[in-house]
Amino acid sequence: MNRSAWNLPLGTLCGIRVTVHGSFLILLAVVGVVQWVSSGSFVAASLGLASILVIFGCVLLHELGHALAARRYGIGTRSITLLPIGGVAQLERMPEDPRQELVVALAGPAVNLVIAAAAFGLLQLAALTGSALLAPALSFLVIANVILFAFNLLPAFPMDGGRVLRAGLALRLGGARATEIAASTGKLMAVAFAVLGFLYNPMLVLIALFVWFGASQEALWTRTRASLDGMTASDAMTRDFHAVDARAPLRYAAEVMLGSQQKDYPVLDDGRIVGVLLRADVLRALSARDARLVSDVMRSGAPAARTNEPLGEVYRRLIGGPLPALPVVDGPHIVGWITREGINEYVALRRRLGAA
Ligand SMILES: [Zn+2]
Repeated sequence: MNRSAWNLPLGTLCGIRVTVHGSFLILLAVVGVVQWVSSGSFVAASLGLASILVIFGCVLLHELGHALAARRYGIGTRSITLLPIGGVAQLERMPEDPRQELVVALAGPAVNLVIAAAAFGLLQLAALTGSALLAPALSFLVIANVILFAFNLLPAFPMDGGRVLRAGLALRLGGARATEIAASTGKLMAVAFAVLGFLYNPMLVLIALFVWFGASQEALWTRTRASLDGMTASDAMTRDFHAVDARAPLRYAAEVMLGSQQKDYPVLDDGRIVGVLLRADVLRALSARDARLVSDVMRSGAPAARTNEPLGEVYRRLIGGPLPALPVVDGPHIVGWITREGINEYVALRRRLGAA
């Protein structure tokens, strides 16, 4: 919610939505003002801003490199977002095959290498022809892209270098073990970033947080997914659930919620699934008094889970997507309801049973 409100659309590139995070504009404003005040020159301030925009242009192309490499393997990209600490290409998923992961991870830094090489070539050409006008800009491009290339290849999982490390290890050790090692290395790097950040550059502290939480989350996700192997949605869904009608008044849905332990609800219209009603949305709408019917506040568009869908896949959708719960269908009929907590409990219970 807050995240999408802060993400401002920039346009689309190769069919991929590009957004910029609001805090990035704050960064631009701060740099502009600081440069202006410290140098007293409008030109210097503009040059400072221009160099940041050029760097982020290169970051954008870097992310596009990841996205287009993933597309080769049939993996879409939801969006590319520019943040003050860099860019994020939100791939629908990471490739399962370590070789493909390697290609996708390397594609970003490769773009920076190509830009640096091209700018270096032009720089040599400019030197030969004696035109020194563009030399400072070209040198800047070379240096910026060499730094982007090298920094991203540090083995700080889930940054690119960490993914390369993970993929390389996965070829020998298997995915689960490889992720554990890459995540531990990533956390070590995060600590190093944090220490250096406190000493030299606060931006590194932000990157350290990003790496630390990213590594923890990926390790947890890999562990959970390994334990979900061979199971399907029907194993972890509950058949005992309430649904609400799309045309019911919201007050009625709120009363159903009051009388039940269930947090979120599938929404039906003539027996067909048309959406999911989240408790949080109902509370918000009731306090704002701006909705009359369930259909006014339900979330629609998320595909339901199929009974035979691998549980790991469903879990990934629940973790990575906007909905904490999904209806489970068998053909056109809803037969169950599956939630993040439900899957966690199911896995924990199975582990106990296995241990007993
Ligand atoms: Zn990258």
